[in-house]
Amino acid sequence: MAGGTAEEESAAATASASAGGGCEVPIRLDASTVTEKENPNGGMNQKECMERIAKGLKHPTVKFLREHMEKAGCPFWVKLILAADCKTQGVAGRYTSRHGISVCCNNLTYQDEVNQVLIHELVHAYDDCRVKNMDWKNCAHHACSEIRANHLSGDCHYKRELLRGFMKIRGHEQDCVKRRALKSVENNPYCSGAAAKDAIESVWDICYDDTYPFDRAP
Ligand SMILES: [Zn+2]
Repeated sequence: MAGGTAEEESAAATASASAGGGCEVPIRLDASTVTEKENPNGGMNQKECMERIAKGLKHPTVKFLREHMEKAGCPFWVKLILAADCKTQGVAGRYTSRHGISVCCNNLTYQDEVNQVLIHELVHAYDDCRVKNMDWKNCAHHACSEIRANHLSGDCHYKRELLRGFMKIRGHEQDCVKRRALKSVENNPYCSGAAAKDAIESVWDICYDDTYPFDRAP
C-alpha cells in the first residue's frame, strides 16, 4: 500500500500520546487487513455493503466464530460492525480493540471479499476475547493474531492468490499467510522496522498451528 495518510492506522498512535491534558487516552489499536491491490471496480456503496454484511453474517464460518465468542463470554453484537469508507487504499477491513469491526466497502467488490473480511476480523475479535492479557502494542501478540486470521479466514486460498497474480506453488499458502501478516504488523506503529518481521518469525510455528476454535483451518 502506498504511503498515504496512514491516518486510520495510526489512530493507534493516539493510544500512547496522553495529549497534554494528563488524562489517559483509551487504547485504540487497529489491526488492519490488507487487500494488496487497488480496487479497479471502485468498490461498493454503503447500502450494498450493509446488505452484503448482513448476508455475510449468515455465512457458516462467521456463525461458527460468533457462537464461539459467545461461549468464550464475549457475545458479538452486530452493531459493532461498521460499513465504512476507508481512506487508505488497500485496506479491506479493520478490527479495533473494544470498538469493533470496520468493513472497508469502498475497497471491496464481491460478497466473497466481505465474508473474508468478516471472518478475518472475527478471528482478531475472538483472540481479543480469548487471550486474557491481549496487548495489541505487543508485536508478538499482534503477529500471532494476524497469522491466525490470515490462515483461518482462507485469505490465502490458492484461488484468491491466483486472482492477486501470485502463482500457486507448493508451500505457497504459508508464504502468503506470512506475507500478509507481515504487512499488517508493519502497520502497527509499535512494530516498525525489523520488529514486525522478528515478531512473525518468533511466533510462527505456534500460531500457525493454533487453529482454535476450529479443529483445523476451515
Ligand atoms: Zn488482521
